[in-house]
Amino acid sequence: MQILVTGGCGFIGSHAALRLLDEGHSVTVVDNLFRGHRAAADRLSEVGGARFRFVEADILDTATLARAMREQGTELVVHFAALAYVGESVEKPRDYFRTNTAGGLSLLDAMSSAGVRRIVFSSTCATYGEPEERFIPIAESTPQQPINPYGRSKLQFEEILRAEVGNPKDPSPLAAVALRYFNVAGCDPDGRLGEDHRPETHLIPICLEVALGKRPHLTIFGDDYATPDGTCVRDYVHVTDLVDAHIAAFRQLEPGVYKRWNVGIGRGYSVREVVESVRRVTGRPLPVVMGTRRAGDPATLYADASAIRRDLGWQARFTDLDEIVATAWRWYQAHPNGYR
Ligand code: UDP
Repeated sequence: MQILVTGGCGFIGSHAALRLLDEGHSVTVVDNLFRGHRAAADRLSEVGGARFRFVEADILDTATLARAMREQGTELVVHFAALAYVGESVEKPRDYFRTNTAGGLSLLDAMSSAGVRRIVFSSTCATYGEPEERFIPIAESTPQQPINPYGRSKLQFEEILRAEVGNPKDPSPLAAVALRYFNVAGCDPDGRLGEDHRPETHLIPICLEVALGKRPHLTIFGDDYATPDGTCVRDYVHVTDLVDAHIAAFRQLEPGVYKRWNVGIGRGYSVREVVESVRRVTGRPLPVVMGTRRAGDPATLYADASAIRRDLGWQARFTDLDEIVATAWRWYQAHPNGYR
């Protein structure tokens, strides 16, 4: 299939593009390289050869997106391009709505003009906000009440997709799937791609940077939560499992139907459990300092992953935290300066 991947030079997008190439598809990656890495495109080019093409363009550049789709004969769009820092979204909300919401509209305009009617969208559990305890684990029917501009911008694009799909006058109805990711972690088990965020804010990468000696310690953001050990609990899903979910999902695309699934392993690990795992996997010291709570961190978030298991037969293969951490550790050891 001819597949266009937006944001394909970022962490998740590049892993998805790699898998699609591995499966024999032709992939055009569109990325503005704001946070994505040219080195990721180079790696994909080595793997994909003539089946891979890179277009450096912004998601708001509708004309270039449409041209890329026409030239490739795109049959499916997998949409990752986004700004994805919760804290930053509070400080620069317009940037988030511009890239994530208006960028999505630009993409849909380009798809319309190029006649592309299938999209898989990278959404997030941040669209649920801070669900009440009775909604944990989080099912797809949990009310979506995001508590920051990042989550709102992603929910807005879900709503736009839902409306677009339901357009009764559309002679060629859109087929759309939104996947709501929990905490995505780990790296390509073969070490071909990795995770390189600037700035890095995620727990597992930060722990690994401490293990590498690049940071003096990890600050745990609070141990006074109502959780078994007082630290926050999250659902860490391996990036290659997440990519598998996309592949299962795009096979379920149906014209005029909007579908959505949570993607998580269906169990939570506390910050302290992550720290212990990183200590075991790396065998290195991991000094920890106890800090205060980070604004906007809910105590417990993990997925009810039964719908995706039932509907797509998808189940995470990496359910052991040490195995997830080990794939990331392999990348960090081989690339202590990321893609640089
Ligand atoms: N966390 C932490 N110290 C850090 C980074 C993260 O204690 O330096 C905690 C954070 O409060 C949350 C969990 O680790 O409970 C996962 O955070 P991350 O930023 O990786 O993902 P999020 O859950 O915010 O999407």
